[in-house]
Amino acid sequence: MTDIAHQISAINQAADAILKHKVNSLQVIPAVAIKLLRLTQDENTNIADLSLLIETEPALTAKVLRNVNSAAFALRNKITSIKRAVNILGFSAVRQLALNQLFYNKLIDHKAKQQFDQLFFWQHCLFVASLSRAIASAFQHPDPDLIYTAGLMHDIGKIVLETHGKVSYSDFILACKNDEQPTLLGEHDFFGLNHAEMGYAFCQQWDIPEQISAIVYCHHELPDNNSPFAIYKRDIAIVNFANYIAWMQGIGSIAFNNPPELHSETSKYLAIEKLDLETLLSHVDQEMQYTREFYGIQFPNINRLRAALVQTTLLLSAHNKRNSKSAMRTDNISITSLTTPHKSLISNEIVPWTLAVIQKDFAFERLLMLDINPKQRSLAATYTWPEAIDKNSLQAFNIKLDELPSTILSSLRERNAAIINVNNNKNTSILKQFGVQEFLIIPVLSLNRLVAILYADKHKTKTPIAEHCVNQIIPIIHELGVALANAKRFELEKKRAELDSLTGLLNKRMVTDFLTQTFELKPEQLNTVAVGFIDIDYFKKFNDTCGHQAGDDVLKIVAQIMRTLTRPSDFIGRYGGEEFVFILRNTDKQGAFSYAERIRQEIERKGIILSQRFQGHALTVSIGVSLYRPDFSTYQEMIEVADSAMYSAKNDGRNCIKIK
Ligand code: GH3
Ligand code: MG
Ligand code: MG
Repeated sequence: MTDIAHQISAINQAADAILKHKVNSLQVIPAVAIKLLRLTQDENTNIADLSLLIETEPALTAKVLRNVNSAAFALRNKITSIKRAVNILGFSAVRQLALNQLFYNKLIDHKAKQQFDQLFFWQHCLFVASLSRAIASAFQHPDPDLIYTAGLMHDIGKIVLETHGKVSYSDFILACKNDEQPTLLGEHDFFGLNHAEMGYAFCQQWDIPEQISAIVYCHHELPDNNSPFAIYKRDIAIVNFANYIAWMQGIGSIAFNNPPELHSETSKYLAIEKLDLETLLSHVDQEMQYTREFYGIQFPNINRLRAALVQTTLLLSAHNKRNSKSAMRTDNISITSLTTPHKSLISNEIVPWTLAVIQKDFAFERLLMLDINPKQRSLAATYTWPEAIDKNSLQAFNIKLDELPSTILSSLRERNAAIINVNNNKNTSILKQFGVQEFLIIPVLSLNRLVAILYADKHKTKTPIAEHCVNQIIPIIHELGVALANAKRFELEKKRAELDSLTGLLNKRMVTDFLTQTFELKPEQLNTVAVGFIDIDYFKKFNDTCGHQAGDDVLKIVAQIMRTLTRPSDFIGRYGGEEFVFILRNTDKQGAFSYAERIRQEIERKGIILSQRFQGHALTVSIGVSLYRPDFSTYQEMIEVADSAMYSAKNDGRNCIKIK
């Protein structure tokens, strides 16, 4: 037997020994899902095959139909055929929905013990799947959907052990909570094989495509060069990396465990530094949001994630401590200091709170956050402790990076903390400029980018800064970096909730919020308010002629025209499908008309310019405007009038404006 064959037979034996039933009798995931997994790799799979499969699973059929008939697609007639639904939603999207659904049923419905939180686990799998696919796409992988499937399945061994082990995964978690052993070895000692091996045994029995089983098997450890799986190294590296990021984001598969290691070879197969992680992560967030809505479930809340994140980071720093000389030291630091940065998702709170705890724990007399402006290559003092630091004295800290002495520059380059003092004569001029004899700097990294520098001194008492306290502050600043990255994502997320993703205009919710506020204005101000509806003419026909993609482009064009022709004090938004809203203040009938007319003409003009691309289909809009009247008691009444004015414009031949 070859080495690998030997290994595999040992794994299968171990799997048989630990499971209550033989693997091939396991109903871990339903047969439909298995069929679907195999379809994933079959290039000849077509819409008919996929539709047939979906139709055999009633719950799945219901979900797909509900989804295609949701408001997001704004279809006039209800879709009742799965084949049409697959056509509309897209093959790859449906395959993904189906896969998620089938896994979900099995995972969430199964009553496992408390230690194994299925929802948490499910979220981890989805996150890894979605991020893996995004990374695969970013690197132009030939089959990102397959990588999605592998990401979804990477931890399947844990489910098999949990649901069918003679001892369950929950038992394992209970047994090793306080154990410092890395997970995989711990699993091996406990079950006789680790979750990756269990997953592989399962995949083999179920005839899962080799590429997927190889990823499941090796997601923690890249195969060596003479392994038959070596050809999948890049795919494996993708899932390994996504899994690592999931843990770093606090989305591990179980709440208490050692985080996985980023395999040292991963960066050899993936140009990680080329990835735009921020964009990838916000894309993944969007997908997660979509899944959340699809199932109507709530994933564990942000506090839970935050707690897991702190836990992970603490474990990581403890891990680093064991492994490296330039150890991060987490002993002696109060847990309050380490968790403070995570107490908020707003950077205006995170930074000052963190400065305050550092001041308290280490008795600094002055603390500053020096933000790095990469364009101007300069530093600017943004937050200070105490808050009352004299503004003039802060001027000294606003300097160009190039003017910093080489001692500071090299510490920034190497991302190390440094104590800057008179011991080195290169420091003389900067010490003079800051008016101190000694200060401490610690680079603040967020998503691996240098974003700021923590500055601290004891300029009054001139007490020397102790080396050991520097080592204790470093982990706090590390937490600060993580918290700042989270805050940034949170702000993006919040923005996204207010914006329509296609056009970037404010969405319907924001339109109604704005109208509610407007209706609270004083009567004399309300008197000068106008609300308008803009509706694209014959848009359905446009979509049918030119395609949905061109239709989406038209929506963006209309939004852009509205943006350029609207005063900052006025409001525009997307109300739904192909309907836009404007709310004007300080206007009258004439003013509202000329604004609407400018928009109408500009859209018509753009349509003529693009008429070749639009296959001769004209681009025009009908606009209805309602002027405020004292007899309106709610904004809804005003909207109704604007809407009915818009319909009069349609009836009057379209491409015109009606004011009521
Ligand atoms: P009318 O002139 O009477 O307004 O006719 P219409 O075809 O524009 O109006 P109708 O309400 O019948 O159709 C609206 C169409 O807008 C149907 C739908 O497919 C399309 N639509 C809605 N939202 C979007 C979208 O986000 N993207 C694209 N491409 N089309 C959309
Ligand atoms: Mg794993
Ligand atoms: Mg229309």
